[in-house]
Amino acid sequence: MPTKAPAKKTCMLCVVMRLWLASLLVLYLLSDQVFASEVNLAESTDFFFDVENQYTIDDVVAMPKSMLWQSNSRNTLHLGFSESTLWLRIRINETFAQSPGLVEIAWPFLDRVEAFWVENENARQQISSLGVQGDHVPRNAHFLEHRYFIFPLPGDNKYDGTLYLKINSSSSLILPIWLRDPQGFYKKETGYQIFLGFFFGVLAIILIYNAGMWFYIRDRIYLYYVGYSAFLCIYIGSLTGLGTQYIWGNSPGFSDVALLLGVLGSFIFGSLFVDSFLDFKKNNRFAHRAVKVAIVIYALIVLTYLFTSEAFVTPIGQSLGIVASVFAYIIGIWEWRKGNPDARYFTFAWSMLLIGTCTYTFLLAGVVPDNLFTQSIQAIGLLVEMGLLSFALGERFTRERTAAKQATEMALHLASEVNKSHEDKIKLQQEANQKLEGQVTERTKELQATLTKLEQANEQLEALSNTDQLTGLKNRRFFNKYYDDEFRRSVRHKSPISIVVLDVDHFKQVNDTYGHLAGDICLKKVADVMQFHSQRPGDIAVRFGGEEFVILLVDTDVTGAEQVSEYIRDEVEQTLVQAENHSFKVTISLGIASVIPQEDLKPEELLRRADAALYQAKANGRNRVEVA
Ligand code: GH3
Ligand code: MG
Ligand code: MG
Repeated sequence: MPTKAPAKKTCMLCVVMRLWLASLLVLYLLSDQVFASEVNLAESTDFFFDVENQYTIDDVVAMPKSMLWQSNSRNTLHLGFSESTLWLRIRINETFAQSPGLVEIAWPFLDRVEAFWVENENARQQISSLGVQGDHVPRNAHFLEHRYFIFPLPGDNKYDGTLYLKINSSSSLILPIWLRDPQGFYKKETGYQIFLGFFFGVLAIILIYNAGMWFYIRDRIYLYYVGYSAFLCIYIGSLTGLGTQYIWGNSPGFSDVALLLGVLGSFIFGSLFVDSFLDFKKNNRFAHRAVKVAIVIYALIVLTYLFTSEAFVTPIGQSLGIVASVFAYIIGIWEWRKGNPDARYFTFAWSMLLIGTCTYTFLLAGVVPDNLFTQSIQAIGLLVEMGLLSFALGERFTRERTAAKQATEMALHLASEVNKSHEDKIKLQQEANQKLEGQVTERTKELQATLTKLEQANEQLEALSNTDQLTGLKNRRFFNKYYDDEFRRSVRHKSPISIVVLDVDHFKQVNDTYGHLAGDICLKKVADVMQFHSQRPGDIAVRFGGEEFVILLVDTDVTGAEQVSEYIRDEVEQTLVQAENHSFKVTISLGIASVIPQEDLKPEELLRRADAALYQAKANGRNRVEVA
């Protein structure tokens, strides 16, 4: 897209240029035809300034030609500013196909013009008044409701006499004076009115369009452009006399003000527009400052005009205008060469206006012929300028919109990038967290496993350290702690507790007779029997050391303990111990101590009593149970 667009726009530029050239050609051809029946009276004019404002028409007519009169040798009359009354004397000897012959003074700013006709063949020099016109004269006094001043010559279509014009004006005395037959006048006027209608139509469209643009976009450049177009309308309106004819004709003298207002206003708004259009603030600080200074100067000129006269202000404004125009042109080319895209349009447009304005100035100066072509060329230059600038504004709008769109896209892209990287970050963090959690869980599991193993090992160790290797019963170490706990519980619950101490009878002989290994097997047998009979929860059988055993019976009174002891003694007595090639039987002696313990009773005391009972059982013949 971006590569295609400029090519298209350059083409637009070409189209505008071609249209402009074509319209110039048509206008040129037309102008030749339309001006067939016209006479430029400026070429045959004598004039003088009545400094004292003292002469009447009779004095002037009677005045010898040699006295004050000066002859105008050029094809235009441009006499500057004057407070004095200007008298013109024009010799006319023409024959037209139609009547009346019309004298046209094509400068709408003259304050007051009085015309007189003196027939030549009339020896008495009969003076007939042709009326008074001017922008300080009521419009209904004019011969024709027309933008310029039109005086009809009296008589039939043969004109041989002298036209006198008495002119007073505070505006510059530019005097294009023509004599036309009615048909020529009508043709020229119609053609030019059509052109002016077209001109104002286009300008109105541009104005309304840009006002709309300003209203919706609020870019001040459109407002400047509207201001520029509006003041240009005033300028051309006043220059062509249309403003006086249709708009401000009833406010005498306003046409003078309107011209200056149009020039200065369009200059100020034009400068603001150019400053903004070429973006001097950014691209060219020098030009930006120069524009500011120029605007201030022109504003000062407007103020000065309120207190002085047009004669004072106009030359200053004109020279400044020339300097500013050339300056703007140079800056335009400079910016173009620098690569400012809008400068190309500006320079083209400005060229059109300059060509138009120069031609018009040359026309007023009499350097180029006065015809429809030279009269319209400034307005056409303006039109082309306005059209080109409108295109340029359109391109600028598109460019800014594209830039804004790109900026938005970029911002969106960046935002999504930021979002994405944020998401990535979060994702990475989550992954790291998950990994860490996994590692922690794994470590914890490993630790727990190790702990479990340790616990198991501990338990095994504990069990091992509490167990007697040979018999599998609990050992004395375990018993000491266990017994203390159970004894205290018995004290608390006031429940009976019994201790049975047990010893194999004549065990030395077993060892001696059958060997030490058989003795061990025998001990194991006795232990099994004990284990079998102390199954109730809380009861334990313990190998106390050597062939001595202890049974702790909780919640068991002496009767219960005697019963258990008797079962064990009996079963051991019945049991045949088989070891290697031998089998034999042993007996055991048991001592019981049973009590519902009191606070003051020590656990060792109960054990000691049971031991004493065992001693009693041994003493009483063995293989028996004795109670303490
Ligand atoms: P009494 O009827 O008076 O108890 O006679 P006794 O022979 O059993 O005498 P005593 O209780 O003093 O003898 C204990 C003997 O038990 C001494 C020791 O050789 C034997 N002995 C101790 N521990 C073990 C053991 O673990 N294995 C074997 N085979 N013999 C042991
Ligand atoms: Mg013993
Ligand atoms: Mg013994």
